[in-house]
Amino acid sequence: MTRQRVLITTAILLLIAILALPAIPPRSQAQGDRLNVIASFSILADVVAQVAGEDAAVTSLMPVGANPHAYSPSAQDVAALSDADLVFVVGANYEEGLLPVLREAAGANVVAASQCVPIRPISGVVDPDHHAEQHDGEHNGERGHEEPVRFGAPCDTHYEAVAAAFDQDAAALLSGTLGPLNTLACPGDVHHDEKDEHAHDPGSCDPHVWTDPLNAALWTLTIRDTLAARDPDHADAYAANAEHYLGELAALDAEVRALIETIPADRRAIITNHAAFNYFAARYGLELVGVVIPGGSTTSEPSVQEVLRLIETVQAHHVAAIFTETTVSEALARQIADETGAALVPLYTGSLSQPEDGAGTYLDYIRFNAATIAEALR
Ligand SMILES: [Zn+2]
Repeated sequence: MTRQRVLITTAILLLIAILALPAIPPRSQAQGDRLNVIASFSILADVVAQVAGEDAAVTSLMPVGANPHAYSPSAQDVAALSDADLVFVVGANYEEGLLPVLREAAGANVVAASQCVPIRPISGVVDPDHHAEQHDGEHNGERGHEEPVRFGAPCDTHYEAVAAAFDQDAAALLSGTLGPLNTLACPGDVHHDEKDEHAHDPGSCDPHVWTDPLNAALWTLTIRDTLAARDPDHADAYAANAEHYLGELAALDAEVRALIETIPADRRAIITNHAAFNYFAARYGLELVGVVIPGGSTTSEPSVQEVLRLIETVQAHHVAAIFTETTVSEALARQIADETGAALVPLYTGSLSQPEDGAGTYLDYIRFNAATIAEALR
């Protein structure tokens, strides 16, 4: 080969390489040509995986059985987060232990799945002086009633699509909520860097949105749009998967509604270990009369007076069962159960189960919890 031909060949190869550059999507090498997607915990990871199908690799940062409120990331977690193409989190301050790492390691790739979800204020802190307010919804809805809750683009179209799929009146669904917040933390929330202060003020965000299947549907549409924007080649597949899953979520909602209707109306008062089921209770007409662990997290403890009030509440409302959880200690709930004769009934809250234990997917997690609640209260 002459020197001239070598130069021409090199120039052509360089030109081809330069032309090809913009077509190479910014994806992790480790996952081949699939997007490398991390979700903060197992429940969200399952919903992301339903939308992603075969076209993205989805893993959960926290393992099954971990308590997301108390989780602190390992060095491997930090490395995995920086390698990911996308990181989905609940937001609304749920991943309180992960926030600094999320902001640093994953930066712009972090997406709050709940950005289009109407967020409820924390409630369920048992205080007889405010009890009536909690019951009539005034207290819960205080901030929501100040001005009508509004969605902006693209959340408004998501919200209308989900309300239609679930055959619900969109405006009614927004009552008692703070509206969509589009944030990892919670505006107006307590600052967690102030010396172990983990209590939430009433009115700050309740992050446990997924216990209402309608909110899982809102997650689904945000996940669909995010995956499609990052990986347009598979946008049609993501849209089809999301559409299919929306149908499954709407069917789940009808199934749960029918199950809860089998509970006599005067036996629908519940007490949970921490405030994990407010969205479920609001959706299906259960009355949350107390939580054992105050605040919206699992990191605080009730005072002696609060425990005594809970015992009174259990007796006054003839509460049949205190719902405990697989990821958080039931020691305090056991004390109250021993005093009152209420049964202790474990639910899955911040984690799926292993598949063989009946709550290995989000759909089965809701089915398991609804069936367990219905059976305990009937
Ligand atoms: Zn929780």
